[in-house]
Amino acid sequence: MIDFSLSKEQESLREEIIAFSEETLTPGALDRDKAQFFDRSLWEACGQLKLPGMLVKKEYGGRGLDAVSTVVALEALGYGSADSGLNFSLAAHLLACVVPIQLFGSEEQKNYFLPALSDGRWIAANAMTEASSGSDAFNMEAAAVKGPEGYILNGHKNFCSNGPVADVVLAYFTTTPGKGFFGGISAFLLEKGKQDFFASEKVEKFGVRTCQMGEFRFTDTLIGGQGLLGKEGAGGMIFNTSMEWERICLGALHLGAMEKQLEKAISFARTRKSGGKSIASNQAVSHPLANLKIQIESARLLTLKAAWKLDAGKPAGMDAAMAKVQLSETFRSFATQLMQLYAGKAYREEHEAQQLLRDAVGDSLYSGTTEVLRNILATHMRLK
Ligand SMILES: Cc1cc2nc3c(=O)[nH]c(=O)nc-3n(C[C@H](O)[C@H](O)[C@H](O)COP(=O)(O)OP(=O)(O)OC[C@H]3O[C@@H](n4cnc5c(N)ncnc54)[C@H](O)[C@@H]3O)c2cc1C
Repeated sequence: MIDFSLSKEQESLREEIIAFSEETLTPGALDRDKAQFFDRSLWEACGQLKLPGMLVKKEYGGRGLDAVSTVVALEALGYGSADSGLNFSLAAHLLACVVPIQLFGSEEQKNYFLPALSDGRWIAANAMTEASSGSDAFNMEAAAVKGPEGYILNGHKNFCSNGPVADVVLAYFTTTPGKGFFGGISAFLLEKGKQDFFASEKVEKFGVRTCQMGEFRFTDTLIGGQGLLGKEGAGGMIFNTSMEWERICLGALHLGAMEKQLEKAISFARTRKSGGKSIASNQAVSHPLANLKIQIESARLLTLKAAWKLDAGKPAGMDAAMAKVQLSETFRSFATQLMQLYAGKAYREEHEAQQLLRDAVGDSLYSGTTEVLRNILATHMRLK
């Protein structure tokens, strides 16, 4: 039997996060977005609710949510918090860094890293992309060479969300070049202050602007064998697994943001007058909003189904790609139509619709571009 209702626990989780984020994270969010300012005290406030560790098992200091409940929680965060960059920081930390530690870390690593990553003390960044390898992660140049005291890391990673504020960095390096992505790459857990590497200041960017993005440079950085996450050569598999989680769960933030903005758009369309009647009375205005409702609901169902597969331990690669493509294309179309609806008002002022449009563009780029995700689908469909 398929049950589409939320459990009592999920309902109260949703209410708790919406109430917290509307009260604590939304005030001043548009100004912070404009200033590209990350407020660490807000991260710490999220930590009090253990939101940065929402899916970490309770024994390691988290809230112990499953994937479906994580989707519910992130959707509530996106709905309640207008600080979309902070929301994005939290989801990137959780899905691309905390998930791999929980799934592939040794008992020692889990006990050491997860409590502080869950309660707001530490922030994590994930470092895969390089100047000459984005979608083509197979072509990375960063390399780790094994020596008597551990591994020597050399390389340059960019586009790292949370980079400038991160305490922990999950970074990927080639360990055996001839073995390719699966087998030749390894994942390392580094700590600022413990290992010697350079972290840049934030770079300016187009969307999710309160999330700080930066670069890392590793120059003969020494890390002991205990810094290896999983086995040597397991980095490609670890990265792919974390990207499946990110493709499925991160978009829930945008579902929440769209749901909130749809409510506002409906209220605007009903009250804004043209020719003596509300603009909503024009089919040209009401039908696009009705279509957006259908698209958001379709993206939500694909997201929840994919999350259910994660919880059931079933292969979720194809579902993750479908959910992410549907969601990011809905998001971009939603944001464009919102600008059209608010018209000059959104174009001239510092308006939420502008923030949404900037955020929407990024969603079809990170955790696999829509083109790369369609390639993944084509492979699953045996088209290539
Ligand atoms: C907001 C944001 C946050 C990010 N956070 C992180 C992070 O925390 N850590 C990190 O490591 N990286 C991060 N990234 C980087 C992100 O993963 C890359 O931007 C992404 O992988 C695309 O790589 P690229 O920008 O080099 O584009 P390219 O790979 O150069 O692609 C350029 C264009 O070519 C297309 N293309 C490339 N290859 C193919 C192909 N085989 N078939 C069809 N089309 C193709 C792409 O779809 C794209 O349209 C982030 C990016 C953004 C925008």
